[in-house]
Amino acid sequence: MLPNRFRMTPQRMAILAEVQSAERHLTAAEIFERVRRKYPTIAYGTVYRTLHLLAKHGLIQEYPFGDSASRFDRRTDRHDHVHCVRCGELVDVEVPIALLARQVAAEQTGFRILDHQTVFTGICPTCQEQRGLDELGRTGTRR
Ligand SMILES: [Zn+2]
Ligand SMILES: [Zn+2]
Repeated sequence: MLPNRFRMTPQRMAILAEVQSAERHLTAAEIFERVRRKYPTIAYGTVYRTLHLLAKHGLIQEYPFGDSASRFDRRTDRHDHVHCVRCGELVDVEVPIALLARQVAAEQTGFRILDHQTVFTGICPTCQEQRGLDELGRTGTRR
């Protein structure tokens, strides 16, 4: 069991700072690479465990995606995402309809809804471009 009290060490601060300054939703491995620039001796396991701990204490959010790596989010408010099934990229998206869906879910079931998250899966622009290159040389346009 984890202790209730969360002790903020310089290393933990550095790990939290990397998530908070990240321009996108990083994996534990990506965060490890960044933290290692300041703490060359830090172990991957330490970074990994700290990230879970930070998420558990609500300082960041963790989004696990099946067998692909978890992504860590500096935003702790409720928000929705699009997720690329090819590279695992996770991007914030503002979807007003998601709030309506929550209301419908409550009305249809009688539940008091505590939380909800919408994840749209698809293929990101970078991967679409990649696929376009893969398909170069094939004849004609699809349709
Ligand atoms: Zn992608
Ligand atoms: Zn996010």
